[in-house]
Amino acid sequence: MAGRQSALQRLGKNSISAKDIANQAWCEKQMELYIMNPMPTPAMEKGAAFHEVKKAEVFVPLTVEPYTWPDRIYKGAYENCTSLASLARNGVCRELKVYGSLNGFRISGQIDELKMHEHKVTIIEDKTLSGYSGSQSVRAKPDMIQVSLYKKLLDDMASNRYTFDNFANAYGLESMVLSKEFVKGLESIGVRKELMTLRQICKVMFGDLASLPPVSSTLEIRYFERGSGQMISEMKINYNSEETDEWIKYAMRYWTGEREAQPVPESEKWKCKMCKFFGKQCTVWWGK
Ligand code: SF4
Repeated sequence: MAGRQSALQRLGKNSISAKDIANQAWCEKQMELYIMNPMPTPAMEKGAAFHEVKKAEVFVPLTVEPYTWPDRIYKGAYENCTSLASLARNGVCRELKVYGSLNGFRISGQIDELKMHEHKVTIIEDKTLSGYSGSQSVRAKPDMIQVSLYKKLLDDMASNRYTFDNFANAYGLESMVLSKEFVKGLESIGVRKELMTLRQICKVMFGDLASLPPVSSTLEIRYFERGSGQMISEMKINYNSEETDEWIKYAMRYWTGEREAQPVPESEKWKCKMCKFFGKQCTVWWGK
């Protein structure tokens, strides 16, 4: 609609992450406040440290430092190719980046783990929690939405509903040039000359994705205790495309600017006690 500003424009973001859309299911207002105030909480820092440890188990990073945004896209695509090769060879990979489009907006995400099971690719999302034994059930809805979005994005990439051309147009790939320093770094580690352009590495990535075995409709979420790293529980859900599409439709009305970020309803105001913005940037349920 003419004149209406999207949430992305207002927040100065250029793409929406699957995590953002999932967090809308917890509290949309809180999700927006985290984007506007990006300081991580100690719990988030512990969660990030846990993911780094898990990532180091199987992920092979490209050891060349990126200098520019095009360099970073190259690095992501190169690492995706390495991860997909690891999935084919060892039956497991971690931190696969996925891209897509919803309502014309760029969507991205990073799948914690993919593993081969009965000739299908299974998506696994790892979450960390404090020791509280019931906390995994209250987080279930956002976590289910996140993992369902990953399934949708991966399916779209693997089945050519979201192609290399869509990606190249959305990211303006044709006008992007890698920095000289980055190219020198790629040469120094022996990257083949024909893979030295952004276009070529992204084409290889989409080709590798298109040859993935089918993605399983059983999605897994594993919950780990934040301090010890011990697994607390595991949840398996069946992907429901109608419910996922319904949620996306609802969530996108916020991103298109059709509506403001919604606080939690009164029946869920118990969430506010755990929210770092309670009584500060958000006073919706403060004192009530
Ligand atoms: S205080 Fe409550 S309503 Fe406000 S952002 Fe936090 S969780 Fe949402």
